[in-house]
Amino acid sequence: MSANLVTIAYLWAAGLFILCLSGLSHQESARRGIMYGIVGMLIALVATAAAEEFTGYALLAGIFLPAALIGLFVASRVKMTELPQLVAILHSFVGAAAVLVGFATLLEHGAERAGAAALILSSEIFIGVCIGAITFTGSVLAAGKLHGVISGKPLLLPARHFLNLGLLFATIWLAVVFVQGSGDPASQLVPLYVATAITALLGLHLVAAIGGADMPVVVSMLNSYSGWAAAAAGFMLSNDLLIVTGALVGSSGAILSYIMCRGMNRSFVSVILGGFGTGEGVVVEGSGGEHYPIEVPETTDLLRNAKRVVIVPGYGMAIAQAQPSLAKVTRILRDRGTDVGFAIHPVAGRLPGHMNVLLADANVPYDIVHEMEDVNSDFPRTDVVLVVGANDIVNPAALDDPNSPIAGMPVLEVWNAKAVVVLKRSMASGYAGIENPLFFRPNTRMLFGDAGTNIDALLAELQSESAGVPVG
Ligand code: NDP
Repeated sequence: MSANLVTIAYLWAAGLFILCLSGLSHQESARRGIMYGIVGMLIALVATAAAEEFTGYALLAGIFLPAALIGLFVASRVKMTELPQLVAILHSFVGAAAVLVGFATLLEHGAERAGAAALILSSEIFIGVCIGAITFTGSVLAAGKLHGVISGKPLLLPARHFLNLGLLFATIWLAVVFVQGSGDPASQLVPLYVATAITALLGLHLVAAIGGADMPVVVSMLNSYSGWAAAAAGFMLSNDLLIVTGALVGSSGAILSYIMCRGMNRSFVSVILGGFGTGEGVVVEGSGGEHYPIEVPETTDLLRNAKRVVIVPGYGMAIAQAQPSLAKVTRILRDRGTDVGFAIHPVAGRLPGHMNVLLADANVPYDIVHEMEDVNSDFPRTDVVLVVGANDIVNPAALDDPNSPIAGMPVLEVWNAKAVVVLKRSMASGYAGIENPLFFRPNTRMLFGDAGTNIDALLAELQSESAGVPVG
């Protein structure tokens, strides 16, 4: 394939990636967006492999085929609840790739250029390797935290901000040494090794200092970093499509981080510097008072008599895979004339858009799924709120307790409804590790047990009642 044809194919692929991103911004168009992305990626791969100057077919087959098979195997087996950590690990691969491409470029082309061209190449390599190393270690640690093998508690070293600053200044100094050695790869290797180690440590330290409640920003931020790492690799490999794609991922990840910060009322800088607004708060432990359990039949009665019901799904709904039964419960209630809606918090679950995906998959109509800012003012006129496996996103301490680690985070103000039923297995805390005073409010009832089992029981009661009753 001639260079011109490759460029045209790259333009098509870049256009499809842009359509993919715009498709992903709405539930209705998300599937179409994914298809654009898949076709764009296929065009990109075929055009790269078919380019005239490309000769490494044996190497491509040896690496690409096993990697594609592993990817297919892992993606087909991963549980919906494990997607966040899979995404984090995939980000780490992009980071590792940028580091490896950086070293390979230095060793292969470092001596070929002189003057300004050598300076530019050195800058590309240094920036790519550093962003890649931060992305790699940060993403591996984030995946560990999301998988629960590493504690979600923030690691707050006494002089952590000085440590970050020290690592940053050391990296800047190494950048100067590295660029000064341009054209002589042998002398550049040591500063690059040291900078890789330092930025890898920085990635670990930045993510270790971030508390559970701020993890959504970390996930989207690492998504953004992985994009910039890919763009940097694109510069090193002189691959225009990689630069464009990396910039698209980098900037969309940055916008997502901004949206997440807004959803949590956090400043981006304070989140990425770690610790501010998280660990300094007091984690309340022990009982906050009396709670009032409820059983399935009473909950069914509450639902039967309600004119308006709002369902708040959280991470526990994903664990319990309760969404298909919940969709059926919704259908029955709507058929009876009840006004039913879903309320989605921007950081519900463990991945941006987690709840939207699950509800769309269960065929819940898009027009009854509402964002937090649209639904909060409606709770006072709501009869029953069903909180299905959600915890932090409905915690009133965010508004009432200035010492809470989640103080200031906007939450779904479900306690303003007439009755709240919380479906969870125990009184355990959510991801942020803090107690939830909602559970002790006089209008809150706790329906203990697996949310999937309890929603199935609710469904059975509603179905047995609807049987024989003509519904609209
Ligand atoms: P939480 O983690 O706060 O709460 C989930 C609740 O679900 C738990 O309290 C748990 O209680 C309950 N649960 C677990 N399994 C079941 C089950 N089988 N049946 C019934 N209940 C169950 O989730 P939220 O969605 O409320 O909040 C999300 C949290 O995750 C926030 O702190 C957010 O910052 C963080 N986060 C979000 C990310 C994102 O991008 N959305 C990324 C990373 C973190 P019990 O054990 O008693 O059953």
